[in-house]
Amino acid sequence: MNEPSEFYEVFALEYGRMDRSSRDFYLHSPDPHEGPRKIVYYLWVIRNDRRTVVVDLGFDRRSGDARGRVMLREPMAALEAIGVTQQDVETIIITHMHYDHAGHGHEFPDATFVVQEKEIAYCTGKPMSYPPLRHSFDVEHVADMIRANFASRVAFVDGDKEVLPGISVHLIGGHSGGLQAVRVETEKGPLVLASDAAHFYDTVIEQNPFTIIVNLPDMCAGWDRIFELGAEPGLVVPGHDPLVAELYPRHPDDEMTLVLSEGPLRETPWQAWKKA
Ligand SMILES: [Zn+2]
Repeated sequence: MNEPSEFYEVFALEYGRMDRSSRDFYLHSPDPHEGPRKIVYYLWVIRNDRRTVVVDLGFDRRSGDARGRVMLREPMAALEAIGVTQQDVETIIITHMHYDHAGHGHEFPDATFVVQEKEIAYCTGKPMSYPPLRHSFDVEHVADMIRANFASRVAFVDGDKEVLPGISVHLIGGHSGGLQAVRVETEKGPLVLASDAAHFYDTVIEQNPFTIIVNLPDMCAGWDRIFELGAEPGLVVPGHDPLVAELYPRHPDDEMTLVLSEGPLRETPWQAWKKA
């Protein structure tokens, strides 16, 4: 492979955190998962001196309240805390359209959204006529994406694509109609934001699927795929694990933001697991 043309810093911005029942998170429960389990809600920022890309936009008050979720701060305030303003953001990668990833689209009237064709087909099509399948989606978020498309501000991807120099997206099935992981070139090597291809470290280590499933074989294949994108296991980051907030250094300007591109401060569960 050629030398990367651009390197980036990558940040995880925490905006929500709560205890929920383990049964919500593991297909094979209760054993060994009983009782409360912490989940953290993040959005991510990819930045260098030429560009700022936001990955996912979190839930908004309305869609979070409707599900009893605890928002610690507005995702937009989280962006501001590390100096990102709406005007800085030309590109927003939406890993998938679930309510906790796709809110706030209307707050970026000039940005282009990068999404998988399969995800938009899924969340605008027949599956949404079934309550259990639309449960994870918010119709206003989907409507905002349709409006963006009618303004030619949606960049559809079908599969894998380098969307900007050093930033690529990779289709991973299973959890939604067309989830995508994001691979970014950093000074320490490629980094993979798995998003909900892996909610937690132990999702993959225990091979215990998250409970929201579109296709189980595809979901399991996604656990391999996130490690096949060329990143060292310490630079593969799960989507909702509270451990991420303990393993990576904090941003100097904001203690709820982690600097993922500096690498973990100590061995991550995936590093230990891959070594074993
Ligand atoms: Zn999620």
